[in-house]
Amino acid sequence: MSSFVTFLGGVEEIGANSCFLNLEGTGILIDAGLHPRLRKERTFPIVYPIQNEETDYALLTHAHTDHVGGLPYILKKFPHLKLIATRATRDILEVMLQNTGKLLRLNPPEDIHSVDLDYYKPNNIQEITAMVEAVVYNTPMEIKGRRGDVAIKTSFLNAGHILGSAGILLNINGKNIFHTGDVQFRNQAILSKAVFPKHHLDCLICESTNGRTEDDTPDYKQEMQRLATFINDISNNNGSILIPSFALGKTQEILTVLYQLMRKSAIPTLPIYSGGISKKLSNIYDRYCYDGGRVDKGFEVADIPQIPIDHEKLMTGSYFNSPAIVVASSGMMNAGTTSYKLAMKWMQRTNFGIAFIGYQDDETPGYALLHSELKKNFQFGGQAMQRKCHIGKFRFSAHAKCSDLIDFILNTAPKQLYLVHGDEDACSSLALAVMEHLPQTKVIIPILGKRYQMSV
Ligand SMILES: [Zn+2]
Ligand SMILES: [Zn+2]
Repeated sequence: MSSFVTFLGGVEEIGANSCFLNLEGTGILIDAGLHPRLRKERTFPIVYPIQNEETDYALLTHAHTDHVGGLPYILKKFPHLKLIATRATRDILEVMLQNTGKLLRLNPPEDIHSVDLDYYKPNNIQEITAMVEAVVYNTPMEIKGRRGDVAIKTSFLNAGHILGSAGILLNINGKNIFHTGDVQFRNQAILSKAVFPKHHLDCLICESTNGRTEDDTPDYKQEMQRLATFINDISNNNGSILIPSFALGKTQEILTVLYQLMRKSAIPTLPIYSGGISKKLSNIYDRYCYDGGRVDKGFEVADIPQIPIDHEKLMTGSYFNSPAIVVASSGMMNAGTTSYKLAMKWMQRTNFGIAFIGYQDDETPGYALLHSELKKNFQFGGQAMQRKCHIGKFRFSAHAKCSDLIDFILNTAPKQLYLVHGDEDACSSLALAVMEHLPQTKVIIPILGKRYQMSV
């Protein structure tokens, strides 16, 4: 029996990431994401290529919405899928999906029938989370589908991206297939770097977020220094700093960065405001503070003094009167979110500053603000605005530097390499760099829904 792979989302974009593998009759879905911004197409992974396939398992690399936000949608269509994820991913999954459900009810996607969103109800999400078989890193388990010919040895390896994140190693007939999920090969403030295979891989599915070779990510420590300078400049001028941040991963890391800067007096001890679902997620981070994969074992996000954001009094908070730092979601300032609302008032203050620390999709208000010119009109989530405040851009990426991705690929010298989870430029730039060094490797930037035969 033969094996193949087909990609259902996240092709030449960071979208509804998902791929499907048929390994000698066992059907394995890896991730089922939701596109980071609401839109009229490709909101969820496409399902037509697998409608008539054996579908047995859904393995989850980590709980970011672009990897799991489509899970209830997929389970409505394939209810018998067995779910496997790390313990931390299982815990985070419920918080993230409940939040996704709320957002989808407020803003139903135009391309989806409401009946297909049935499983986003709170009790269904609880049931979905309860179904997850939780695993720990580096502990192989065997899986085999109803029509599968052979058992597949499956291991989840620490990906260093967010809490619980994993690369997934599948071994079938002695051949290795590896999916990186989202990966970081360098320590962040809380999480330590990925521990991925160094041996030869037959097939590698690799994320390409920072794949542009000419634009490599700066060093974490260097960015901390730049952020400190920005915060000092603003607070010395009696201003406050707004940091729009993703609730999962980025918020816990940036809170820790701020805490470290304060502890070594690189910035003054300012009040830090945080809130929303990030608090629940920080609690899960703390639950696993003694597990592997930590830079500083036992460190808890709860140790960082924080003032909860008061949503009732959001627009009159004391951060408007004296210097403070506000870490608020959403990371891309989607209209109506806390960071969006605060930015409207922040922009009117000449001595205030907004520090962007993460990826901005080019159709989001965050992107428009980041690229706005001082005192020039621009559209901010449908509103005409002018910015008077300062803006800083910092790259605390939870994704691998391009040079680290290349090193990893060269070390594992895969026979087949699929580049996903990156825009067109990132994927093609990374592909060229790999082809130069590994002429034997078949490098593929996959096409959505196309089936690729695998030699395993
Ligand atoms: Zn991620
Ligand atoms: Zn992702």
